[in-house]
Amino acid sequence: MKIAVLPGDGIGTEIVAEAIKVLKVLDLPFEMETALVGGAAYEAHGHPLPESTLKLAQASDAVLFGAVGDWKYDTLDRPLRPEQAILGLRKNMGLFANFRPAICYKQLVDASSLKPELVSGLDILIIRELTGDIYFGQPRGRRIATDGHFPGADEAFDTMRYSRPEIERIAHVAFQAAMKRDKRVTSVDKANVLETFQFWKDIVSEVGLQYPEVTLDHMYVDNAAMQLVRAPKRFDVVVTGNMFGDILSDAAAMLTGSIGMLPSASLNSKNQGLYEPSHGSAPDIAGKGIANPLATILSASMMLRFSLNQVAAADRIEVAVSKVLDSGLRTTDIWSEGTTRVGTADMGDAVVAALAK
Ligand code: NAD
Repeated sequence: MKIAVLPGDGIGTEIVAEAIKVLKVLDLPFEMETALVGGAAYEAHGHPLPESTLKLAQASDAVLFGAVGDWKYDTLDRPLRPEQAILGLRKNMGLFANFRPAICYKQLVDASSLKPELVSGLDILIIRELTGDIYFGQPRGRRIATDGHFPGADEAFDTMRYSRPEIERIAHVAFQAAMKRDKRVTSVDKANVLETFQFWKDIVSEVGLQYPEVTLDHMYVDNAAMQLVRAPKRFDVVVTGNMFGDILSDAAAMLTGSIGMLPSASLNSKNQGLYEPSHGSAPDIAGKGIANPLATILSASMMLRFSLNQVAAADRIEVAVSKVLDSGLRTTDIWSEGTTRVGTADMGDAVVAALAK
């Protein structure tokens, strides 16, 4: 089992170190190789995704990714910015399905911005299509200056597009995921205004006919945003396009209390995957040893489950995280009165200790 470890920038190096600690005590035959990505790779090699890093990722069964980015790179040409590394990995590895579970741990119900009864027991899975939509359509009519801005331009526009195979494959992923859960899929679109999303809706419905056990409903994205904060437990699996998924998954993240708790997985058709926390490099807290490593540790658990076929080990990590939360240990982002505040490394050590029990 070969894992490419790409810690990246900011808190990325701190949180990935904790996930590695956890993976090492599982005593499984992993081969791990670390490489630079993002701003760190730009500093060393002049590019956020050097050829050697991409080759390593492509030759691995899974990529464990920290986070990339820092405000200091905001003036670079767009292709050289750290965030381009993620787009490059997604594109070159064909990672089209982004899984973002939003689970509210019972111990953290009070950390949510919603009332406890709305989020207690919450367990939803947002599946975001990752390689199409407006993020990859043709940008047209642009007058792009080298710094990525448009001095003196009268307009700028991007085109939204999806192909039938792109929609079909993400729909299958969603229905198959629902079969292992509560057998409900909500497809989120904007079919009342956008042709692309009428097409999306029609194709998801067609694919749904192949999964008669799964209940499918369709919801406009504005209503979905409202329902996510009004009654989030009504959802099981939510499937949507790249842009709506980007926004809704962050909103869902906050329902659970902290973005520091949320893992994510991006998979291709061979189950090769990139696993990363849902948050960014948090330059505001980098180097302070206070970042929450649990999202990254839970991402490592998703990696074991989806790409490395080590379901028992994945379950063990999730149980260990729950035990640590039961014991009252909290990093600053999830701390509340009556719990014990710990730093990044202490939290990682606590998960390692819980695994050994
Ligand atoms: P962010 O997710 O890095 O941080 C948002 C807020 O959440 C900050 O206050 C931060 O301190 C806090 N936070 C995030 N992760 C945390 C953790 N594990 N523990 C405790 N607190 C945590 O988003 P941002 O500030 O908008 O972006 C910072 C940089 O990260 C930017 O350069 C952005 O482009 C980049 N970014 C990268 C990714 C990625 O690598 N996948 C994703 C989003 C943003």
